[in-house]
Amino acid sequence: MANSYFDIPEPIRIKAIEAGAPKLQLSITLQAAPEKAALGYPGKSAGDVLFNGAAGTLLVSLGEAPKMITDTFRVAGGSVGRWLVQNAAPSAEISVNNVNGFGIPNALAAFCEGLLLGVFKFERHKKASNSIEPFTVSVRAQNGLDGVETVVRRATILARAVNLARDWGHEPANVINPVTLAERAVALSERYGLKCTILDEKKLEEIGAGAILSVGKGSHQTPPRIIVLEYAGKNAAADAQPVVLVGKGLTFDSGGYSMKDTANMQGMKYDKCGAMAVLAAIAAAAELGVSTPIVAIIGAAENMVSSYAYRPDDLITSLAGKTIEIISTDAEGRLVLADCLTYAQRKYSARAVIDLATLTGGVVVALGRLRAGILSNNTALSEQLAAAGERTHERLWPLPLDEEYFQLLKSDDGDMKNSATVREAHPIVGGIFLRQFVEDTVPWAHLDIAGLADTPKDSAYCPRGATGFGVRLLIDYLENL
Ligand SMILES: [Zn+2]
Repeated sequence: MANSYFDIPEPIRIKAIEAGAPKLQLSITLQAAPEKAALGYPGKSAGDVLFNGAAGTLLVSLGEAPKMITDTFRVAGGSVGRWLVQNAAPSAEISVNNVNGFGIPNALAAFCEGLLLGVFKFERHKKASNSIEPFTVSVRAQNGLDGVETVVRRATILARAVNLARDWGHEPANVINPVTLAERAVALSERYGLKCTILDEKKLEEIGAGAILSVGKGSHQTPPRIIVLEYAGKNAAADAQPVVLVGKGLTFDSGGYSMKDTANMQGMKYDKCGAMAVLAAIAAAAELGVSTPIVAIIGAAENMVSSYAYRPDDLITSLAGKTIEIISTDAEGRLVLADCLTYAQRKYSARAVIDLATLTGGVVVALGRLRAGILSNNTALSEQLAAAGERTHERLWPLPLDEEYFQLLKSDDGDMKNSATVREAHPIVGGIFLRQFVEDTVPWAHLDIAGLADTPKDSAYCPRGATGFGVRLLIDYLENL
């Protein structure tokens, strides 16, 4: 049983070895499936494996050649990782070749990520979780170690960050609440050399952050927090503008008085996954030495019912001074984000503001669980993020943000309603609401990750539970600025 919340098991470690290093017991080879099924090939699906004990080989299928994409290597890596752990294999090695023209750094990076991501397990609350000795996969370099070592190091940092986001995302609300999340953020900032500021409920009251305070009011024991982490950027100019990442951190969302039913309340610990991705991303960026300065702002609150809780019909005043008529206490994420966005713009001259939020069920209806929705006031930013999504296979799809949609949020008594009263365009209405709190001159993108933040079943390199979606995407975007 792990003690520290930073202590996340690493069943596999990867290291680079020289071309001439002694041969290890098991040799792993990746190959595309032949056009016709043949004896001695692992199978047609990417990740199928064929083990030959006598020869000491593990053949791994990359599926049919025409269908291969970079993510195929991640899928293969996930499959190999699980096979190695299940079979407690001895020392294994993989040679780096230019497989089907995908290039060594690209394919190897994806394979290594898959290897480390696929073996993640959330078992810290199990009494008898059998801790296994870390298993080493050696990558045999063909031309010098430097290139391979760089790829392996980056993949390791990324995978650790994703697994941190998964581990913390997976924790239930009786372990992570706004107060304990703030404590974790302080510890994270010390570990990665970041500046950390916590705005507690008194400070939020003082500055007039009425939206996040309203959401958190029902949870008297664990009041809300705005958590701010700052990374200066490696060798960044003093006047370099930061990218501000904003994360929705609803540590539990009961829906409040607009309460969710039993089936829909289960899993609402995952309503903090946008915040987990943002926390993990800034930590990884610091470790990787990204040159762009980054600010992470987490809106942490617990949406509960009690005599303190906010109600439908309430009129609340946000940090921006705009009044909001509450239609549904379950449309709380946008309230928390509204104050975070206002805070971000008042405090920083951002080159871009990007929020990640499990905001609407509507985005799952629209896009399913393969792509997150992106809504933005800036085409260039939207395209940069979408491209990062394709490269990392954390894929996005744009939804419109036409101002006319605001009609659905017109309020008779306040400046706006927090939710429409009709079942139309929910993810867009969420975005339009947030847009009311963003200056037109600030490039901003909202990622609605409700369909991607957690998954009910295991897949190639992502086990059941919190997925860590967004971490690799954000790092790719930041590295390509
Ligand atoms: Zn909600």
